[in-house]
Amino acid sequence: MQKKQTNLCTFAKNLDSIQMAVDIKIQPVETSKISSVDFSNLPFGQVFSDHIFQCDYINGSWQNPVIKPNEPIQLNPAAKIFHYGQSIFEGMKAYKDDKGSVFLFRPTDNCGRLNKSASRLMMPEIPEELFMQGLKKLLEIESDWIPTTEGSSLYIRPFMFATGEGFHASPADAYTFIIATAPSGAYFSGKVKVLIEEKYARAANGGVGFAKAGGNYAAQFYPTQLAIEKGYNQVIWTDDNTHQFIEEAGAMNIFVRIKDTLITSPTSDRILDGITRKSIIQIAKDNNIDVEVRKISVSEVVEAAKEGNLKEMFGAGTAAVISPIAGFGYQGTDYDLPELSDTFAAFLKKKITDIQTNKSEDPYGWRIHA
Ligand SMILES: *Cc1c(COP(=O)(O)O)cnc(C)c1O
Repeated sequence: MQKKQTNLCTFAKNLDSIQMAVDIKIQPVETSKISSVDFSNLPFGQVFSDHIFQCDYINGSWQNPVIKPNEPIQLNPAAKIFHYGQSIFEGMKAYKDDKGSVFLFRPTDNCGRLNKSASRLMMPEIPEELFMQGLKKLLEIESDWIPTTEGSSLYIRPFMFATGEGFHASPADAYTFIIATAPSGAYFSGKVKVLIEEKYARAANGGVGFAKAGGNYAAQFYPTQLAIEKGYNQVIWTDDNTHQFIEEAGAMNIFVRIKDTLITSPTSDRILDGITRKSIIQIAKDNNIDVEVRKISVSEVVEAAKEGNLKEMFGAGTAAVISPIAGFGYQGTDYDLPELSDTFAAFLKKKITDIQTNKSEDPYGWRIHA
């Protein structure tokens, strides 16, 4: 079964250049709720647009692509999503420029990553053509929902879950793929205080840390709550084996600046291959910032902080783009980072968002017309 699905994906990929047409049925809402939304005061990921794109995997193939009203879904209580957690997702954004053109940022990378997550969770891969055409059609229909004020965007959530039924612990035989969208204001968290984790882990060797699998995030909530109770905002995840190397910041990749070198951990089984992360590495290198992709030990970070060489730490991910860290706690001691006026974080955030929102040239070909 899995073999056949992979072939289907490869087949679809080969057809990319021919632009295979996906026949998407459109069921519009009767009345749009857009007039009830205050676009000048949007939270992040809390308000949803009128429609979703949906496609179902039944009897070994993807069927019935449709754009329909965003309404509650009915599932049998035995649907395997509820019992065995076959559930994966992606996070991306659409931007609209002054002229009303709509852009996506490296969207096929999100499709590729969704399919990596799918394979690991024994879920069917989705052909890139189906993903991209569903996404583009949905954006065309929801175009008015894409906010234009500085820092805002249409947050896009593609996700897939097991609808197939049965209490037997085995992969489901049916799945649903949905793309939902949420017009969102800037993801503003302020400068966060983080706790370097010494006991819990978000991922392990041979596990699913590299996948955007729902259960990974459920497993983060408890240790994060413990950190919040101690007065921190977020957890810095360390390796599950020794807890001596820092790996991710909450649900973001992590960057550390020691003197003028920017360091980030290499991706692995345990570390998610972030699109923001890899874009930042590229932009930094091209702007003559010294970048090292290597393991970062906790002791190195603590030493650098003590010596005044730890200049910056920040998380990187689609939602916040870059989220600066104000200080960290480790083994009962708090370390503050300096308040710099010229940060790599601010420089890199501007560079990447200018590309995303069509305010600058895109020498990389990352920005795609939706
Ligand atoms: C989604 C995610 C990231 C960031 O990936 P982007 O592609 O940059 O959005 C990093 N770490 C984890 C654990 C994530 O889930």
